[in-house]
Formats: sequence, C-alpha cells, structure tokens
Amino acid sequence: MNTSIELLPQKCDVLVIGAGPSGSACALTLAQAGLDVVLIDQHAFPRDKTCGDALIPDAHKALARLGLLDAVMQQAHPVGHMSCISPRGGRVDVPGTLAVLSRRRLDDIVCKAAVAAGARMFAPLRFVTLLEENGHVTGARLAHATQERELRATWVVLATGAVPQALMAAGMAERHTPSAISMRCYIQHDAMASHINTLEFILHPSLAPGYGWVFPCGNGVFNVGVILNMPDDAQSPGGKSNSQARAANLRQRFDALGTISESARELMASGTRLSPLKGAPLRCSLQGARLSRPGLLVTGDAAGSTYAFSGEGIGKALETGILAAEAILQGGDEAGVRASYASRINALRPRFAHYERANLIYRYPLLADLLIWRARKSARLRQRLSGVINETSNPARLFTLKGVMRLFTE
Ligand SMILES: Cc1cc2nc3c(=O)[nH]c(=O)nc-3n(C[C@H](O)[C@H](O)[C@H](O)COP(=O)(O)OP(=O)(O)OC[C@H]3O[C@@H](n4cnc5c(N)ncnc54)[C@H](O)[C@@H]3O)c2cc1C
Repeated sequence: MNTSIELLPQKCDVLVIGAGPSGSACALTLAQAGLDVVLIDQHAFPRDKTCGDALIPDAHKALARLGLLDAVMQQAHPVGHMSCISPRGGRVDVPGTLAVLSRRRLDDIVCKAAVAAGARMFAPLRFVTLLEENGHVTGARLAHATQERELRATWVVLATGAVPQALMAAGMAERHTPSAISMRCYIQHDAMASHINTLEFILHPSLAPGYGWVFPCGNGVFNVGVILNMPDDAQSPGGKSNSQARAANLRQRFDALGTISESARELMASGTRLSPLKGAPLRCSLQGARLSRPGLLVTGDAAGSTYAFSGEGIGKALETGILAAEAILQGGDEAGVRASYASRINALRPRFAHYERANLIYRYPLLADLLIWRARKSARLRQRLSGVINETSNPARLFTLKGVMRLFTE
C-alpha cells in the first residue's frame, strides 16, 4: 500500500474508488486480467468496518470465484446453522454454509490479493470529485490532507459503500437517506462460547421493522447488533426529523434486544464489551443510485447491493464488483460496457425483489411465528429455507400468498 500521494500516477486504465469487498474484488479481477488498476481508499488498511461480519453462502461463492475462499476460511469462524428466533420465542435452526470473520481481516485479505495481482493501492486517499469532458468521466480529483491530485482513467469504478457523500459528489445518488441503519458491538464471554454456535436472528415486534442478531466470532467473542429498515421519507414533510428519531431509537432497540433474547441478555449482563456501540447505514435492493454514466460504473453498497430484510451485503458487494470488472474486460465501446454491466445487474434483480418482499414479515409478526413453528415440524420446509439461504431455491415461493398457504400443508 502506498501512503505517498507523490507516487500516484497521472493515468491508469481503471481507477477503483473504495477498497471494501466490492472495490477490491473489482480491482483484483481487473488486475488479474492485466489491466493497469489504481485502487484507493480514504482509510489506511487494515481498517474496521461496522458490520455483523457474517459470511452467508453468496459470499462463500464469490470468494471462491476470486480464489480467496481458503485464505478467508483459515481465519474465519465456521458456523453450520442460522437460527431464526420468532416473536414468541420459537426457534428453528436452518443448515447453511456460513462463517464469521471481522471486516478488518476479511477486507484486508481481498485488498491484499488485489495488490498481489498488480493493482496499485493508495491510502489514505480521498475521492473529492470526478473529472469530466463533454459529459464523459475521465478520472477523479483525489486528496490526502491538504494535497490534491488529478488521476485520469479510461474507467472509474465507484465502490464507496453506503455512506452517500461520494455518490452525491459524483452526481449518482437518487436517494440520500439509507435504506436501513444498524448498530453493533463486540462482547467477550468465554463461558458462552460453547452455548452460542449458530448465527442467531431475533425477530420481535419491538425490533420491527428490523431484527437483532448474535453472531459467534470464535474465541469467546460475539458480534451483537440490531438493524432497522428506513422508509424513503427524507423528502416528505418531517422526513428528516423522522429519520433522526429512528436513528436515536436504534440504541433503545439494542437495549431491548438484551431483554428479548436469552443469548443477548447473558452476553450483555456478564460479558465484557470489547468495543463501543457503532452504527452505520445500509443501501439495499439495487435502488437509490444510478448504475453508470459514460466512463463510470457504480458497484457494491453504493449501488444498493445489500439484501433488504436480512441486511446481508458482503456477498453481493463482492459479486457486483466482479460483474463491473467483467463488463469492462468484455471490451467493446463505452456504451457496450455500460449495457453489459446493466444486464448483469438486472439478472440479480429478481432475487433482490424477493428479499424486499420478505420485509412483509416485519409487518405481520404472526407470520414469523407461523413460519418458524411450521419449520420446526417440517423437514421439507427446513430444507426449503436452507435452499433460500444457500441460494439454491427460489425465495419467491415463501413470500407470496401461495407460499404462505403452503405453510399450512407442508
Ligand atoms: C451494522 C451492519 C451490519 C452488517 N452485517 C452484515 C453481515 O453480517 N453480513 C453481510 O454480508 N453484510 C452485512 N452488512 C452489509 C455490509 O457491511 C455491506 O454490504 C458491505 O460492506 C458493502 O461492501 P462495499 O465494498 O460496497 O462497501 P464498504 O464495505 O462500505 O466499503 C466502501 C469503502 O469505500 C471507502 N470510501 C468511502 N468514501 C470514500 C471516498 N470519498 N474516498 C475514498 N474512499 C472512500 C470506505 O472507506 C470503504 O473502505 C452490514 C452492514 C452494517 C452497517
């Protein structure tokens, strides 16, 4: 990693802004194909990223595609089940290929792989604004402390995550407020290490529209947090104050989790907090931003690549970063690259729409109770849920009227 802005080249093939999973996956794919790639981030790596740290099957698949799954699993804590805990306390354990690894370590692995493949990484270096000629993006203005430099590139990839400032500076934000906000902390509790060994998702009316989680990170450390969906109300009267009130509410929800969930209660009562409660936004459902403009592609959370309902986004951040790289590598003219990227992203949209529909559960807690109660009794339904988590079966079958009716018969 270069820390000196003096070493920044004047031009490159592709400038990737943001070295989270999406930007680093994109840079790695491009560098492996021999392109001259510059990857920048406003923070020096390794850096912390507020997250639940859970790697669900789509993340495993994307990491395998990048050739990084073994390296990640050497450091990750493997987990065999996802536990859904219903408003009335019912619980079902659904098998899945799952793991937990702190983002400090995960993102560093992907970023280092991009550098090993030939990408030149500069950090801390902040994206300020785009360079444009006749409506075509030709590079970016970048800053380190008070120094600024211009870097020209054939393509710029914006992978700056869910905080909207960079998207807004690039003129790509359609929605300025997040789709969801979330808060987490790490708690050490050695005695609970043998008791909590699944990813626990806790549904409860006092956490809706959202949920709480307890994820085991290994070595007696747990990632505990809450997530809250946010309607796009910033433009409506009182919208901004509504959003602020919801944000303040998040801390109370975290405290509420300690009374609702047995695991959270025990961890909060007698565990040691290793970190302060930290919050961060999420952008979901492939909405809220333009995907491209001449010379520029937007990937990862900046493009809304996190799943609604579950808030899981690492896998699709990696995947959309790879898709952006593949569209660039496919070659052709500028319009062809943008069209190719759009069609690759459009192929993912139905899956995102199903997760958006799953938000229904937050409005009808009885539905969650019913689903979990039935799943406890039906091996076939558990298998179907497992298929949804592993992305081998269609979630649409669960979250439609027909799907709900089938809960009574399956
Ligand atoms: C509390 C919380 C819990 C979550 N839990 C999970 C989970 O358990 N599992 C899961 O799969 N997903 C989870 N997610 C979602 C997941 O964190 C995101 O989907 C994922 O981080 C998106 O990756 P990304 O690469 O698009 O963006 P990021 O990981 O946010 O990376 C963006 C990068 O861009 C850099 N950047 C931003 N602006 C600039 C700028 N102006 N100049 C230079 N660099 C810039 C940032 O420093 C950052 O490194 C959670 C999210 C939150 C908030």
